[in-house]
Amino acid sequence: MTGTAHEKVTAEHLKRNAYLYIRQSTLRQVFENTESTIRQYDLRQRAIALGWPVERIIVIDSDLGQSAATAADREGFQRLVTEVSLERAGIVLGLEVSRLARNSTDWHRLLEICALTDTLILDEDGLYDPRHFNDRLLLGLKGTMSEAELHVIRARLQGGILNKARRGELQCPLPVGLIYNTEGRPVLDPDKQVQESLRFFFDTFRRTGSACAVVKAFRQKQLLFPQRLRKGPHKGELEWAALMHSRALCILHNPRYAGAFVYGRKRTRLKPDGSTTYTPLPREQWILLRDAHPGYISWGQYEENLQRLRENAHANGQDRRSGPAREGPALLQGLAVCSLCGSRMTVRYHTRQTQLIPEYVCQSDGADHIIAVCQRVFGEHLDQAISQLLIDSVTPLALEVTLTVQQEIQARLDEVDRLRNKAVERARYEADLAQRRYLHVDPANRLVADSLEAEWNDKLRALNLAQAEYEKLRQKDRVAISEQQRASIIALAGDFPRVWQNPNTPDRERKRLVRLLLEDVTLASKDGITAHVRFKGGTTKTLTVPAPLNGWQQRATSPEVVRQIDRLLDHSTYLQIASELNGRGEYSGEGKAFTARIVAGIRRRYGLTSRYDRLRKAGLLTVGEMAAMLGTSPQRIGIWHRRGLLRGHACNDKNHCLFEHPGANPPCKAQGVKLSKRRLADEVVTQGTEEVQCEA
Ligand SMILES: [Zn+2]
Repeated sequence: MTGTAHEKVTAEHLKRNAYLYIRQSTLRQVFENTESTIRQYDLRQRAIALGWPVERIIVIDSDLGQSAATAADREGFQRLVTEVSLERAGIVLGLEVSRLARNSTDWHRLLEICALTDTLILDEDGLYDPRHFNDRLLLGLKGTMSEAELHVIRARLQGGILNKARRGELQCPLPVGLIYNTEGRPVLDPDKQVQESLRFFFDTFRRTGSACAVVKAFRQKQLLFPQRLRKGPHKGELEWAALMHSRALCILHNPRYAGAFVYGRKRTRLKPDGSTTYTPLPREQWILLRDAHPGYISWGQYEENLQRLRENAHANGQDRRSGPAREGPALLQGLAVCSLCGSRMTVRYHTRQTQLIPEYVCQSDGADHIIAVCQRVFGEHLDQAISQLLIDSVTPLALEVTLTVQQEIQARLDEVDRLRNKAVERARYEADLAQRRYLHVDPANRLVADSLEAEWNDKLRALNLAQAEYEKLRQKDRVAISEQQRASIIALAGDFPRVWQNPNTPDRERKRLVRLLLEDVTLASKDGITAHVRFKGGTTKTLTVPAPLNGWQQRATSPEVVRQIDRLLDHSTYLQIASELNGRGEYSGEGKAFTARIVAGIRRRYGLTSRYDRLRKAGLLTVGEMAAMLGTSPQRIGIWHRRGLLRGHACNDKNHCLFEHPGANPPCKAQGVKLSKRRLADEVVTQGTEEVQCEA
């Protein structure tokens, strides 16, 4: 021990405890032997030499073997920090002291607390007082370097793994159904039951197109699915359990079943609380080697399965992406989008007689929050309009045009291609030039030769880049279609209406066709239905469909009949109007023959002026008014009317009349006296004497 070290230790320090912190990361154990553990215990001897009594040297080694890079889950380190901050520690001892903490933040915090509480730090290299600037600087550097070292070790390990992975030689755990053979190569599991299960799995998916359906099939047939235990005492053993939906999805997404080697599908990241999260990475970032080993499905099949799953997938949150085509007739099932909130709309069916009538409903978050639906759109006429749109769009003519345009674009691409190629040629020329310059320079002139060589290298790099870029763009543009393909595409278009309209085509297939052609349809229901149709490929089209009639409207009388009734009311009673309309072959909204009652109902519902009011408006008089004017009884007015002495007009079917003004020459009492009293009484009874005010 040097003299300086002793100078730093004061009596004050010696009054407190010495803490020997022992830890070793599992990562480092890969590179170092376990001897370091022994070395750490030897530090205890150093503390004794510095003056600490052996019973006051406290060993903290509860973190031994833990490699976590945060303090959060290291109980021992936490305890050490606590002891230091409570000023119970005079000195902290540790092998390569910066390894006390595995990340800089922890380490600098500890240094700060040590400085505040006047605690010394000791490692194999020396004794430090964190209150002194120089010591603290050195300790800080050690911490940073230790972190860097850890990084290098990790990078080296990771690099080794990646290199192996790039060659496809890394032995990752295989999914069930594949195992490593004795040479360490993946092969199909020789267990026939396992193989059969997987084959049944993939066949069922191919048939049904849905992971749910596969799970259902396993359940219905009461089949179990194999699974390898990943941890526990029986690790690696085969277990048979019911197939879960999540597992089915994992299997469908796993490229190893298609015989591909894959590494790095997910990125792991430590969270502040020490737990790990997995983020899936896009496929471009994976290490993926196709046809690396035998598989259960082809690569094409794998891609097709993923496409199916994407179509079926439920995207984030409430937005239900188009689900698989289901049985009902609603064409836009899974494709309808609400114009108000942008959510996917669900389908409901109403039954009319035996027919299923679709209705598209946006529940948005209604189901979660128990609020009213956002909007509903009646589907009957809409589906018909969409049908017609598709038949009109998919015609041989339309496709002919599309293909011609496509060919035109290809022709223009050749020009673009020549231009792009020019860039490559220029890069090649410059590289050649640089090469010639380098070769011509005198090798003795080192300085010039070096710079020319560097230039030549740069030009070669630029040439490579230009060439790669050229190839990439060229591949991207080329989607050439042969004559034969063209003919078959056009033939298919000719078949489309036939297939579409064939009543034997199942709804499900028809909906699949819709999905091939349409991206989605945004629906708005305001003053009729507006549908913004988005085709695959980006073309859009807007359809408007008249708003459907509600139940009452569907049973309503046609406006033409209402107009006829209005005209007839000028001259006829309800009964007369009914027989007139029936004579003209008209029917009520419900399809029935007219009766006086129905006509009266329509008069009221449409607010037509009643016959009584029309006659009164024309100046006709009631029985009472007429009797008063002529100075006689209402009965006599009736008699005069029947005798034709007064002109009356029936205002209802009870034979009540209103009378025209008698004019300058009214009938007088003498007329009609021949009637016997008895006859008169009879007529009074049938005629009625009360004034008619309103009608039934
Ligand atoms: Zn909505």
